[in-house]
This record gives sequence, C-alpha cells and structure tokens, in this order.
Amino acid sequence: MSKERNPFKIAQEQLDEAAEHLKLDPATHEMLRWPMRELHVTIPVRMDDGTVKVFHGFRVQYNDALGPTKGGIRWHPAETIDTVRALAAWMTWKTAIVNLPYGGGKGGIICNPKEMSEGEKERLARGYIRALGRFIGPERDIPAPDVYTTPQIMAWMMDEYSKIVGYNAFGVITGKPIRVGGSLGRGDATAKGGMYTLREAAKVRGIDLKSAKVAIQGYGNAGQFAHKLVTEMFGSKVVAVSDSKGGIYNPDGLDFEEVHKVKVETGSVVNYEKAEKISNEELLELDVEVLFPAALENVITEENANRIKASIIVELANGPTTPEADKILHDNGKFVIPDFLANAGGVTVSYFEWVQNITGYYWTAEEVYERLDKKMTQAFHDMYEMYKEKNVHPRLAAYLVAVSRVVEGMKLRGWV
Ligand code: GLU
Repeated sequence: MSKERNPFKIAQEQLDEAAEHLKLDPATHEMLRWPMRELHVTIPVRMDDGTVKVFHGFRVQYNDALGPTKGGIRWHPAETIDTVRALAAWMTWKTAIVNLPYGGGKGGIICNPKEMSEGEKERLARGYIRALGRFIGPERDIPAPDVYTTPQIMAWMMDEYSKIVGYNAFGVITGKPIRVGGSLGRGDATAKGGMYTLREAAKVRGIDLKSAKVAIQGYGNAGQFAHKLVTEMFGSKVVAVSDSKGGIYNPDGLDFEEVHKVKVETGSVVNYEKAEKISNEELLELDVEVLFPAALENVITEENANRIKASIIVELANGPTTPEADKILHDNGKFVIPDFLANAGGVTVSYFEWVQNITGYYWTAEEVYERLDKKMTQAFHDMYEMYKEKNVHPRLAAYLVAVSRVVEGMKLRGWV
C-alpha cells in the first residue's frame, strides 16, 4: 500500500479543485472546507466480564444548507475524526447530487464489533445515542447504517432516542428493520443504485454488460448485493470477489449463492474452494470490464492506478480512489463513477424511509425501486452532462454539480 492519505485532506483537495473551477468566493469556499458542527463523546459500556470500557465516538454535521444532515454511523477500530469529517463532506455532495432535501453528516465509534457480544453492542449503541442526545433528530440530523453497523443496531438506536423524547420517533434514523419503520428495498439499495448508474455508464461508453467480466473488492452489504445484482440484472460474469481476509478468482465465474453461503458460514469468501486465491491488490488489477471497489478508503492510488484494466470503476465504497489516481485513470481512458454518485442509492432509499416514517404511509418494493431508478438515472446524467461540457474527470464533474447546488442554497439563505 502507498503512504497513508488522510481522507479529510483528500476531501478538502477535491473541493479545492471544484472551488477553483466554480470560482467560489473565499468565504463560501472556506465554509465548505470545514464541518459546521461536530460532537465528540465518550461512552462508558459495561462489558460482559463486568468491567467498564470507555469508547470514543463522533458525530459530524458538515453542512445543512439544503436540509437536515444525513449520513451513516461507522463502527471501526481504525476510526478517526478526520475520516468521519471526510465522510460527512462526501454525504453533503451525495445528497446534493441526487437532489435530496438533506445536508451531509456522519458518525463513528472507535470499536471492534467483531470482538463484541450482542449485549455489548446493544449497550454501546444505546450509550452513543444517550451521549448524542438531541444533537440528532428527525428534523436535525438523521443517522443510518455504514461500515459494520446493521438494521438491528439502528433499531436499538431508534428505541433509545424514542425513550429520550418520550414518543416513537421512527424518523430519527434510517436503515431500520421493516417491522419497526424500515423501508422495503433499503437492504440492497446501495448496490441497486450502483447498478442503475452502471447501466447508464455502459450505455454512454458502449460496453455490453451481458458479456462483461466483473471484479468486486469487499463483501459487506454493498459487495454481496453487487455480486447478486450484476448477475441478475445484466447477466455479467463475476470472476473475482474479496473481503478483508483476501480474494478468490475463477475465470469461469463465481456463483453468488455458493460464495454467499461460504461467507455466511465461515466468515470469509477465501474458504470457497472452487477458485484460486488472490490478494486484494491483485483483484483490483484483473483484466475485467467492470470493477467495484466496495470496501474501504484509499485502495486505488498513484501506485496501482496505472495497472487498473477495468473500463468502468463503480465506487460502491466511500473514498476508494485518491486524487492522484483519479487523474491517472482519466488519462488512461478509464471511467470512474464516483463514490458519492455510485453509492447514493443507500441514502436515497433512506430518504424514502424517512418520508414513509413521517407520512405514515408505506410503499411497495416496486415503488421504491422505480423511484430509486429515476433519482439515480437523473443524477448520473446531471454528472455526465457536466463531464462532457467541461471535459473534466467524472468526480470533478460530479463535484461541480453538487457543490453548485449547496452554494446556491447557502446564497439563498444569506449565509455567504
Ligand atoms: N452510510 C450510507 C452512505 O454512506 C447511507 C447513509 C444514509 O442512508 O443516510 O451513503
């Protein structure tokens, strides 16, 4: 791996490039370089062995010019405030590019959920919400799942918040289980949204997805559903997948049901036998048409960008490509569907969930997917128009669209 890059510095650099193109005035630019608010909390949790462990958590509200802030909560041992800030900034651009009435936010707790019992996780989830108190709320800041957080964790958090305010506040958090205010279609929404953008990208790039080979890095929610959906929707052949333990490769294709079963039963795809073992780095460089980075940040860097062979890179993860790598990929004729567009399906269905919670009227899965398709297709073409007009790399094009919308909101409100 290359030298570690600070994700928040990357987010600021990306914004700086957009600010220069948009000729933003210094005050507007400075507002957008920093979060508007952030809260740091300590959370004491009684562990199963009777001791008390103190966890550190954050919630960043990056910009709320266009509506209440929105974004997931990550539980990760390597979480830092700067990662959360970067992700909150990206949520701001993400909600703007799909035209949701939201700003951007993000939360994080430094912890290793893989080493915690269900009881410990529940106490941590509830403790975090008690620590945040009314910093969040259905009209203020609405969290959701992200890395290593699940619908069950969202249910505990919603319940704890409801106890604080004294009534059922389903709209405070999204990604909940269906029975307690969740939306149909939220489970696979991130990957599904990515598929709609891939479909549009393949059309404009003249790629036949039916005969396309695909590699997927990461086998969490987004990666697993990407495997299932790219096969089901387009008939593409997934030749490689990976998780944090390593990757597997089979040029004849990997069957979703079989690999998924191995992942669920053994905890890793590497235990699947009908494939050759490869590393995460090798997976990125395979000779495929479509590559899904669906794991963590900073995996495509100036060191390996020149060896990436995929023509379309669909960033289901947040922040997988560094700014240096973006330029290399663009110069090499590769087309990146940038993270805050490619993975916006999750927050879009979160928005639908919140609307359903607030109105108390619930939609069918078909209604959810149809509306998601419309939103994602429109967002892709808003970006693509800008890409053609300005002849810039796709991420910058997406930034130009999203930042302009947030700036317009800030100006109309009289902030800048
Ligand atoms: N954590 C997801 C993201 O990064 C979803 C956020 C949400 O649903 O609010 O987009």
